[in-house]
Amino acid sequence: MSNQVDVLNEGKSKLLLAKLSLQNNEVAAAMGLALDLKLLWPPPCCGRIDTYNTHLAGSDFGNLKHFSPAAVLYPGSVRDIENLVKWVYKLSPYYKLTVAARGHGHSIHGQAQAPNGVVIDMGSLRGIDVHKHELYADVSGGELWIDVLHATLKEGVAPRSFTDYLYLSVGGTLSNAGISGQAFQHGPQISNVLQLDVVTGKGDLFNCSREKNAELFHAALGGLGQFGIITKARIQLEPAPQRVRWIRVLYSDFEAFTRDQEYLISQPKKSTFDYVEGFVIVNNEGLLSNWRSSFFSPQNPVKVSTLNTKGRVLYCLEMTKNYDEQYAFLVDEEVEAMLAPLNYIPASVFTTDLGYLEFLDRVHTAELKLRSKGMWDVPHPWLNLLIPRSKIAEFDSAVFKGILRNISSGPILVYPLNRNRWDERTSAVIPDDDIFYLVGLLRSAFHSSSSPGNSLDELIDQNERILRFCRESGIGEKQYLPHYTTEADWKVHFGAKWPKFVQMKALYDPSAILSPGQQIFMDPDLSTLHYHSPEL
Ligand code: FAD
Repeated sequence: MSNQVDVLNEGKSKLLLAKLSLQNNEVAAAMGLALDLKLLWPPPCCGRIDTYNTHLAGSDFGNLKHFSPAAVLYPGSVRDIENLVKWVYKLSPYYKLTVAARGHGHSIHGQAQAPNGVVIDMGSLRGIDVHKHELYADVSGGELWIDVLHATLKEGVAPRSFTDYLYLSVGGTLSNAGISGQAFQHGPQISNVLQLDVVTGKGDLFNCSREKNAELFHAALGGLGQFGIITKARIQLEPAPQRVRWIRVLYSDFEAFTRDQEYLISQPKKSTFDYVEGFVIVNNEGLLSNWRSSFFSPQNPVKVSTLNTKGRVLYCLEMTKNYDEQYAFLVDEEVEAMLAPLNYIPASVFTTDLGYLEFLDRVHTAELKLRSKGMWDVPHPWLNLLIPRSKIAEFDSAVFKGILRNISSGPILVYPLNRNRWDERTSAVIPDDDIFYLVGLLRSAFHSSSSPGNSLDELIDQNERILRFCRESGIGEKQYLPHYTTEADWKVHFGAKWPKFVQMKALYDPSAILSPGQQIFMDPDLSTLHYHSPEL
């Protein structure tokens, strides 16, 4: 009987709340009852809100975590985002609701998810305004880099720094760093932004740059979505080249490989390549290990298998030289001169020539291939690390030649970056050495019977062993696209940047509404925030 009364009372409360919500959601929340969020909809704002089809916003490329939000906002304007966040912020003393901007959902560990909160589908807000003479483009935070590239190329210009894969959102990569083979020269994408528009966790819209609201500007870049939602970014451009000479050479000696990579990234722009990357070949055949491109095709004069490397780990240095058609006659000579000082395995030079767009969009070609074989929507326990130069040889011995045990579960990137192309003031965290390496284990998991060594459990176990090795050997690594679940680990990750990070959080998102999927500020009392910010 008493249960029935409770249910009845609860039903009445909900009805009351539903009525109140139409008049004043804040009053409803202030009653301090356990609210059913759906009864508060629609909030007095904010564009199209969907409380039914929330499944997609509760998934991502990693395919490891699935937490559906209570609702998805498809904003029709920046004002919709401001209004939604303002509303959530006002509710926050009474009702703990979170908001995550979702770029293209290419996170690995649910970073763009908001369990029972609101996900903002940033792709609903489009806009690319190219200023070709001033060499910048103003783009909406939800635009994909592929669309930015298409729009800029029409005007003969292009961004300077990319990611390997372009179906990522501008706001999503700027919240991390945005790294690829151009970064040694131009810095990551966060070093190539002139201005941002950001809606903070209080729902206030700020325009910021290195000169104006500089603290917010730097905090938001690499800020893992913690300080605001990037609704617009001004991206630096350069004149776009027309064609690309793409070269790969092989090494069996890791030291020679890294020496040459470091040599190339330390040369002046005029006398080096435009893009430098590299990868490890622990098992040289198969779509899985080479999905980033089908470069080792039968058309190439030399096949890896003919190099008689006796099952050893190989390393591939990958470079490009950009050029315009009118100067095509110079390219062979230029490339030859740049290759001359390098110590790769003789006769292991693979070259190809293609349009600039085709090169930059190369991973998408591989995506389509994997999709057609049902190999794209599998779990991806990726591990991306930044390893100091001084420890990369030790890492090679222990990981590439040790823990990975000659089993490849996907491409293994390894290439160096120059620290001086990164702005110390951003939230991005990098190792201390002047040169550090990006190591990307881009792994795909399959059922253990179909692919021995590649089951999800085995790959997660390998990741943990790699991280344990780094910790125990004092490698000084930093995770890129970091994933931690305790405040203690985040503190270690951010190191000297942690107090500032916490201070900025208290200033711009004091109720810890934004990007909960990063799992950085999970304390419901937010005691850390208040403790570090007595002035607030
Ligand atoms: P999401 O996954 O949607 O979001 C990532 C985080 O940013 C979330 O916390 C989200 O809440 C927040 N966020 C999203 N939009 C905004 C916004 N507008 N304002 C504030 N916060 C926001 N990275 C590289 O650096 N280099 C690469 O070469 C590279 N290649 C990749 C290739 C593939 C196939 C994949 C799947 C990923 C790759 N990445 C690469 C990683 C990529 O940079 C991250 O996944 C990044 O999160 C961008 O993805 P997204 O736009 O889908 O962001």
